[in-house]
Parts: sequence; C-alpha cells; structure tokens
Amino acid sequence: MSRSAHPAGPRHADVLPEGHYSAPPADLNALDPKVWAQTVTRTPDGVVTVGGREVTELAEEFGTPAYFLDETDFRARARAWRTAFGHDADVFYAGKAFLSRAVVRWLHEEGLNLDVCSGGELATALSAGMPADRIAFHGNNKSTDEITKAIESGVGRIVLDSFQEIVRVAHIAESLGKRQRVQIRVTVGVEAHTHEFIATAHEDQKFGIALADGQAAEAVRRALALDGLELVGIHSHIGSQIFDMAGFEVAARRVVKLLAEVRDEHGVELPEIDLGGGLGIAYTSEDDPREPHEIAKALSEIVTRECEAARLGTPRISVEPGRAIVGPTAFTLYEVGTIKPLDGLRTYVSVDGGMSDNIRTALYDAEYSVALVSRASDAEPMLARVVGKHCESGDIVVRDAFLPADLAPGDLIAVPATGAYCRSMASNYNHALRPPVVAVRDGEARTIVRRETEEDLLRLDVG
Ligand SMILES: *Cc1c(COP(=O)(O)O)cnc(C)c1O
Repeated sequence: MSRSAHPAGPRHADVLPEGHYSAPPADLNALDPKVWAQTVTRTPDGVVTVGGREVTELAEEFGTPAYFLDETDFRARARAWRTAFGHDADVFYAGKAFLSRAVVRWLHEEGLNLDVCSGGELATALSAGMPADRIAFHGNNKSTDEITKAIESGVGRIVLDSFQEIVRVAHIAESLGKRQRVQIRVTVGVEAHTHEFIATAHEDQKFGIALADGQAAEAVRRALALDGLELVGIHSHIGSQIFDMAGFEVAARRVVKLLAEVRDEHGVELPEIDLGGGLGIAYTSEDDPREPHEIAKALSEIVTRECEAARLGTPRISVEPGRAIVGPTAFTLYEVGTIKPLDGLRTYVSVDGGMSDNIRTALYDAEYSVALVSRASDAEPMLARVVGKHCESGDIVVRDAFLPADLAPGDLIAVPATGAYCRSMASNYNHALRPPVVAVRDGEARTIVRRETEEDLLRLDVG
C-alpha cells in the first residue's frame, strides 16, 4: 500500500475485511480508560463528563461537532514523556499532530521542545513564546522563505532532508552571517506499522537521504565541509502508530553504524541521535500501547548497547512523539441526525460532521471507537456505522461499532482518541465550517481554536 508512507499513519492491522468486527462489548455504557482521556467519566445519571463538565452542557455552550481536549491529560502525558527521558534526552512534540498557541504554552511549561514542519507551524510556535532554540524545523521541501525565517529566528536545529537542502541551508545561513545547527535525516530501510516492521536496504518514499549506497555518508561529508552548517547529529523517523520496538532497534543499529563510519572517516563523534516519533496509541480496546517510561528505557538501552559495541560515546537521544501525547487527550462530540437501518447489514448513523473533521478513516482505514455520551442506555447493542454529512460514500467516521439500539436523533455520541491528526487535517469540504477545539480542565471549558464561521469562508473568497 503506497499511502502507507504517510507520517500520520496507516494501521495495516486494522484493515479488516468488510463485515468483520469483534463481538459487542459486555457493557455499552462502559468507557475504557485506555481510549478515553484521563478525566472522562460517566455520572450516575449516565451523562459523560470531561474535566468535570457534562457533555450535554458543553454541546449547548460550544455546539457540535467540536473537539474537547482534556488539558489535565495533555499535561500529564507531556510530563510523563519528559520525566521518562530525563535530563540526558530531549522530547520534541510533533506539532503537526495538533498545534495551537495554548498547546505551545503547555509544552513550554512542561519542559518539552517542539517540532515544526512549515512556516505556519513556526509562526504559531514563536507567537506563543516557545524559545526558538527549543524548536526543530522539518520537511522534505522547505521553501527559501521558510529556511530564512527559521534561521533568522534562531531555531535550535534544522533537519536536512536532501542534498539540495544541505547546500541551500548552508548558503542562506552564511548570507545571514550565521552558522545553523543541523541534523541529517536518513532513511534506514525500516518501514514500521503497528505490529510489524519490514527491514530493507532501501525505502521507497520521499523523506530523507538513504543510508544505502553510502548516500548518507556522502551527505555528512558535504555538510561537514560547509561553513554555514554545524552538523550535530543524525535523524531517523521510521513510521507511525508503532507498537513493536524491534523496528527502532534496527533503525538505531543502522544509525549508530553511520556514526562510527563518520568517526573513522572524519575523526568527529556527532553528539546527537534523533529516533523520531510514531509511537502507537489505543484507538480501540484491542490496542495495547506502551508507557513512555518503557519506551525510554528500551530506546536508551538499544542506543547504549549499539554505541558500546561500536566504541562510541553515547550520543544525546531525542524523540518526537506527536500522537502519543495529544491523540488520547481529545474526543469529537457529534449530534446524531439521520438513522438508517439496512436490514441484515448494519445501521447507518449520520452525524453533523464527518470526513471534514476526521479524514483518517477514509484516508488510512483507521479504526475508532464510539459511545453514546448524553445518556446511558440499557438497550441491546446494534451494529452501526457512523458516517458524516458529506457528499461522498467513503465519508465514514467509525466503520464498525456497536451503539445502543434505542439511539435517536438528537443524542450525542463521541469518538475518542481524536486529538491527533483530526483538527490538524480538517478541511472545508462541502464548505464545512471546521469545528472548534475546546480545552476543559477543573470544571472550566475554554475555546482554544474557535469554530469557523461563514464569514471566515467568505473572507477568503474574493469574488
Ligand atoms: C509525524 C512525525 C512525527 C510524529 O509522529 P507521531 O506518529 O505523531 O508520533 C515525528 N517526527 C517526524 C519527523 C514526523 O514526520
């Protein structure tokens, strides 16, 4: 599947044949803490709350569809990553998963660094006060303008992605009278998805410079020769929604081998190694993600062992979790509209959003869970497919899920684990107005990204 190389992640293990679904859960009212944000619970009257606020009341105040983000959970996850990696490593939150100024401030306060991959993400980060030296700039086709802004603002590192970019960044840095800290992104020949990975010599995708055929070694040679660049390390990012650490092991081994070659050829020990992001989260109860401290321990053991074998000093490790921090912290709240039972098949439940607020199901066959949240129900489970309101039969939010058979128009349902790659990939398809992101904490809810309005749409349309 060629689209598997997309950073926001496919889930091969989830591509089930049509009509293939697990048995209904024992209790449709239960909320699995693995897939719901930390403060989400159901009150004795059956209404679901987040951060102490009832979803019925939130829907009234903020409308639907809307993303509700549990700030307590976000901060706890950011802190858990920070603590797990300690002072000898750096955690860069991957801003493309979801970025807003509030999020940037939380990350800053919790001691994390930030990855950006466009001028827009950089502008958001800087405008919310993230110190530039804690920002890393990524991307396979950074524009001259983006590179200039990144260097002028003093970003901590630019991750070089091609031979052309090595020269381009060096040239711009020199013309600005600066020496830019950079890493080189290499492709190590590991394609990792969920529960399996494939190790090959080459990777057939657009990112990075291949380790194979001495290409990455040549890139290092060129970067070291340019005055505008201070080469500090090697970067590798192997995939998305990964549960199996074995892919990281192969990647680390191959990167360390390059570090040893660099030392042998140039007498330089590059001080940093970045192992990227891609750590998996639970979208359904079947997923079993690892805790940050287990991941930190595994990664640091792998790097330490490989470096000892190569007689290299252990470099400073960095990681770039996006989904693993923000993914589980938010759910999308929808109001149920049309309900269509198709006899012997399933019931189609239409909601007031769809592929414009969650493209991942259509794009990657992603799996999600769903629950009735405005009330509890004792009704029988009904096999449902949650679909949006867009003019596309692939406009599916949750392919197969059980909802109570007494579901009715006006009920509120919520899809958990939509914090990552949902608002950030949202579109205006059918001139949909992109939903707001509302942060909830300790009984208080506040909009951090407001809902789009028809005026917003018309302002871009200059007539
Ligand atoms: C997308 C991306 C990440 C984050 O991936 P997640 O699956 O959200 O953890 C990290 N690093 C790079 C270079 C990426 O492109």
